[in-house]
Amino acid sequence: MADKHKNFIGGEWVEPSTGEYFENRNPAKRSDLIGLWPRSGREDVDRAVAAAQAGFEVWRRTPAPERGALLKAVGDLMVERKDEIARAATREMGKTVQETRGDVQEGIDTAYYAAVEGRRLFGHTVPSELRDKWAMSYRRPIGVCGLITPFNFPMAIPTWKMFPALLCGNSVITKPGEDVPHTVSLLVEILEAAGIPTGVVNLVHGLGDEVGAAIVEHTGVPVVSFTGSTETGSVVGRICGQMHKRLSLEMGGKNAQIVMPDADLDLALDGVLWGAFGTTGQRCTATSRLLVHDDVHDALLERLVSRACELKLGYGLDAGVDVGPLINQAALDKVEKYVAIGKQEAELVLGGGRATGEGLDDGYFFQPTIFDNVKPGSRLATEEIFGPVLSVIRFSDADEAFRINNEVKYGLSSSIYTRDVNLSFRAMQDLDNGITYVNAPTIGAEAHLPFGGVKQTGNGHREGGWEVYEFYSETKVCYVDYSGKLQRAQIDNYDASPY
Ligand code: NAD
Repeated sequence: MADKHKNFIGGEWVEPSTGEYFENRNPAKRSDLIGLWPRSGREDVDRAVAAAQAGFEVWRRTPAPERGALLKAVGDLMVERKDEIARAATREMGKTVQETRGDVQEGIDTAYYAAVEGRRLFGHTVPSELRDKWAMSYRRPIGVCGLITPFNFPMAIPTWKMFPALLCGNSVITKPGEDVPHTVSLLVEILEAAGIPTGVVNLVHGLGDEVGAAIVEHTGVPVVSFTGSTETGSVVGRICGQMHKRLSLEMGGKNAQIVMPDADLDLALDGVLWGAFGTTGQRCTATSRLLVHDDVHDALLERLVSRACELKLGYGLDAGVDVGPLINQAALDKVEKYVAIGKQEAELVLGGGRATGEGLDDGYFFQPTIFDNVKPGSRLATEEIFGPVLSVIRFSDADEAFRINNEVKYGLSSSIYTRDVNLSFRAMQDLDNGITYVNAPTIGAEAHLPFGGVKQTGNGHREGGWEVYEFYSETKVCYVDYSGKLQRAQIDNYDASPY
């Protein structure tokens, strides 16, 4: 009988009120049942909100440097347990252990960044227009934050949200993707071990349209941070808009790597292999379009196909594996649907089917797939697939490449390979994305810089870096008048002024 795991509410590990559980299985080996996790309901969310409201009252009064010291301790514990967490993450999510170690490291980086932010969290002091009066702003915590996260970065994304929210003095309720409940359970164990006060961090497992929806709709949760598909983000956005909640949305992508004729083709080749097939294409920043100049198209495509053929598929904990499985049956169905569409619209030059054979038959493995002669504007060229499927699109000059890059509804990441410094600066200016890489793939964000996208990828906020601290705090402005008399702004100073 598989282990039954629990929620973490009000400082205790508790069973779900529903008495129901869902299975967590290894996507590389379906017969490997990792455990059972709570299929919680609205009552569990109600309890978590009450606990988080009580926790908030304690935590918001804790000095920010002290909150930072706790996050430093959390980072240290994550370092100690890095390998164990990475192995657990690979088992439930599927990507290679080298990649899940990177995923955990991103959480560690985020913890250490938050720790030092506790001694900054700057406001402003500016001159008042009146005599004997001070004017200043500071950053104030908001309340209970609902954090809803996807499957593909089971550690990094929850920490991107949780650590800045905590550093700013908020309490949190976190709900991980239902395919990856174990990694966040381990994270919450670490917060508990580090001494997080009761109720400040709460974990409620469950399904999106049950627990996720209950968090989003709860009147006691004034802040929601969501990362996931644009479709789900639209639902979350509608509800938060109606309820006037503060909301951060990080959603889908359709990212392009542009290769100019003067590019270092070896570098461009390494970049596209990592960008398109790393994490089995299941990154929001994955390279799903390769825009290649006519002059280098044939040379690059030939080498790309031969290198992609060599990628080894398998269980991410086994040595030598490059690419793991897709996350679940729905993901496999979606990729198969887009391959069928692609066969109508373009030319299949590699893969296109389920990967089978020794070590693969029990998992959701799909062959690295490449379509050539994909037409800009076609479904393959514009819709997010979220799998190991690369669309190759030809262009004849940089303006055309920029136009193709920009004509999708998403705007997360882009990349250009060129040796022309002027062109690379034009790309940084004109590519309509939240992130542009020069001579590097579309993936590889660092935790201390703002992360996010434009158009239907996001709603204007950023994770990471210094900007996320603005999302998790309210600006409060304070004026102190020590003149001892009524001073009327915009009136007394102007009427009496000699200027
Ligand atoms: P998803 O939208 O299916 O699920 C994301 C989360 O939302 C899960 O925890 C899910 O349980 C929850 N959810 C589902 N329905 C809900 C509802 N009605 N109310 C509240 N919560 C609900 O996404 P996924 O398949 O887990 O992740 C893949 C998607 O995430 C891709 O589109 C990818 O581009 C995107 N993503 C974006 C970023 C980014 O930073 N822009 C990062 C990673 C992933």
